[in-house]
Amino acid sequence: MSKLRFQALDNALTHYPEAVAIPTESPADFFGKLVFTREKMQEYIADTILNQLFDAIDNGKPLSRDIANSVAMGMKKWATELGATHYTHWFQPLTGGTAEKHDAFIDKTPDGHVLEEFSGKVLYQQEPDASSFPNGGIRNTFEARGYSAWDPSSPAFIVGDTLCIPTIFVAYTGEALDYKTPLIKSVSALNQAAVDVCRLFDRNVSKVHAYLGWEQEYFLVDEALWAARPDLMLTGRTLMGHDSAKNQQLEDHYFGAIPERVLKFMTDLEIESLKLGIPVKTRHNEVAPNQFELAPVYEEVNLSNDHNLLVMSVMERVARRHHFRVLLHEKPFAGVNGSGKHCNWSIGTNTGVNLLAPGKNAATNLQFITFLVNVLMAVYKHNGLLKASISSATNAHRLGANEAPPAIISVFLGKQITDVLDKLEKASVDKGIVINAKKEMKLGVATIPEILLDNTDRNRTSPFAFTGNRFEFRAVGSSANCGGAMLALNAAVADQLSRFKKEIDKLMAKGEPKERALFTIIKKYISECKAVRFDGNGYSDAWKEEAAKRGLDCETSVPLIFDRYLSPENIDMFKTTGVLSEAELQSRCEVKWETYSKKIQIESRVLGDLVMNHIVPVANRYQSVLLDNMIKVKATFGEDKYERLAAHEILIVQRIIKHVDEIVAKVDNMIDARRKANHLDGERAKAIAYHDSIVPLMSEIRKHVDKLEMIVDDEMWTLPKYRELMFTK
Ligand code: ADP
Ligand code: MG
Repeated sequence: MSKLRFQALDNALTHYPEAVAIPTESPADFFGKLVFTREKMQEYIADTILNQLFDAIDNGKPLSRDIANSVAMGMKKWATELGATHYTHWFQPLTGGTAEKHDAFIDKTPDGHVLEEFSGKVLYQQEPDASSFPNGGIRNTFEARGYSAWDPSSPAFIVGDTLCIPTIFVAYTGEALDYKTPLIKSVSALNQAAVDVCRLFDRNVSKVHAYLGWEQEYFLVDEALWAARPDLMLTGRTLMGHDSAKNQQLEDHYFGAIPERVLKFMTDLEIESLKLGIPVKTRHNEVAPNQFELAPVYEEVNLSNDHNLLVMSVMERVARRHHFRVLLHEKPFAGVNGSGKHCNWSIGTNTGVNLLAPGKNAATNLQFITFLVNVLMAVYKHNGLLKASISSATNAHRLGANEAPPAIISVFLGKQITDVLDKLEKASVDKGIVINAKKEMKLGVATIPEILLDNTDRNRTSPFAFTGNRFEFRAVGSSANCGGAMLALNAAVADQLSRFKKEIDKLMAKGEPKERALFTIIKKYISECKAVRFDGNGYSDAWKEEAAKRGLDCETSVPLIFDRYLSPENIDMFKTTGVLSEAELQSRCEVKWETYSKKIQIESRVLGDLVMNHIVPVANRYQSVLLDNMIKVKATFGEDKYERLAAHEILIVQRIIKHVDEIVAKVDNMIDARRKANHLDGERAKAIAYHDSIVPLMSEIRKHVDKLEMIVDDEMWTLPKYRELMFTK
């Protein structure tokens, strides 16, 4: 084993489980300790202004400057008591992750004194020098005028010595430069459209919330081994590495006990998360070796998404305390499962009804079927857009690969709901419907019996599955900001519900009774969106053919998938819901294409460097050892016996030469292809070139490198191998 690799492994094996400081209070006492919650607002802010603040939080009402000043004072007092010295606006740029710029609470007065300062103005608005954040051309760099503005609906929190204020990030011209702004707008559009439909059933409904429960998958790798893999360090994934003889075949990791060192990390992570008010609940091993999952209790989607972004940064911080690195990349290792972030999504009313859960009686079930069918319609009409919303350079490795949903968005409903929809479709509006629930029931028009759901009816291969009281959008990538997917889904459903309401109103205006109108339109929708329903094996090739026949979006090239944002029906949908303007969509695409190219460019450079600095020199060295030996064989045994005695060495040398030749030639081609791509005009053209000409070369180079890994003396190989990265805990 090379010295470098040996040292890394040696270090990794001496990383024992770290002790975790478990708080003496019970979780209920430290939950939300670092969050400026409503209770803390009541403690730190004058009663006279609380109502207006709560109105801003709950209903988005603007706050006057005076009130903002008082809120800022209270917030600062609370934060400094907990040791905060700085504050930052915390926002979600389009490149992913979160961004922050820290300012101290102090400020200088004109006469040179230092004053503690944190006013309503800085709470409300900050101007990060935003010129370096990508904006897709909305805001010219020389103008550099973007600002972040407080989102009172997500509470401020403290990380280390910094008070973090969740904010939106917009250009001075008003366009969104982040994920949060359109996410909030989509929540509001969905609320309006869903309330209108709910009121057909219950006049008491005045608010509909969208909920998100994410499941964050991740890998852990020992930091010493991570540091010896420049590809992991710089790109978050291994760009080379032969399969480990043992990987996930036995599924023994999934069912096994959590390793002690990992458990300590998880405990630490949970404590930190709970203090930040993130209701983490579930932890377990995942299928691939060293792969794990963390899931909280679901929350309102904007808050839940903030919590997911926060948890991702907490994970990275806590992992380092335990000498781990957390890999949030969708596919850190080829040949084993990648990581997703299932987004469990539902909508519910202020009256406490989950609109996606079957009800106890016929009336609530009609409401349930109404919402279910409208979600189906939305996913059907916008299946290409939803795919665009989860697509990225990194998620591309996961989608369409064997263990993950294909690059086709379809919906799994399960047998019972499918039965109900099939029967409804065939039923006559005049005669009423007969549906098999537990027992056969005959019912009047538009009444649906109790639906007894069997929760074991699950399909793991579907990208969008109904799971009893929610939909699980499984195609979302582990490193993604779920806001991108959630805002597309919310907007599509909002738009669909408004169209539905209009159709109902039209029929009712013509004198149709309400139930009959509902029944008529639901039946129509069930037939219309049938193509998107698929309960079979989503991984099979047969499905790809079938989906194409059904007219579902089957595009697999990520840069082309992004075009879906700009199709006329999606531009129209985002415009009518008020979620994103055409200019914003255009700029978002520019950023997506640019980010795509940059990620592939970095990977391709790292691959080129690694190959020329690690792989080829090692292969040459081993070849030279073999050649030396061959000379010795010849000298010892003579010409005639040489060929037989050195046969295997000759073979290996020939193979090494072949692989090295291919590698060197392809690295040259790759550099050429990059140069050509970089000279193209426009981000879209560049991204397409990176996808079409650079990605295939990278995988060809990798194939040869992985072959060499199997041939070259293990003692010389410098990079930690898959078995070491995945099985050291
Ligand atoms: P599984 O892995 O079996 O799908 P998990 O327990 O890992 O389930 O995660 C389920 C996630 O779904 C959790 O975050 C949970 O809070 C969330 N969830 C449960 N019910 C709902 C709902 N009605 N709406 C949104 N999310 C939900
Ligand atoms: Mg789970």
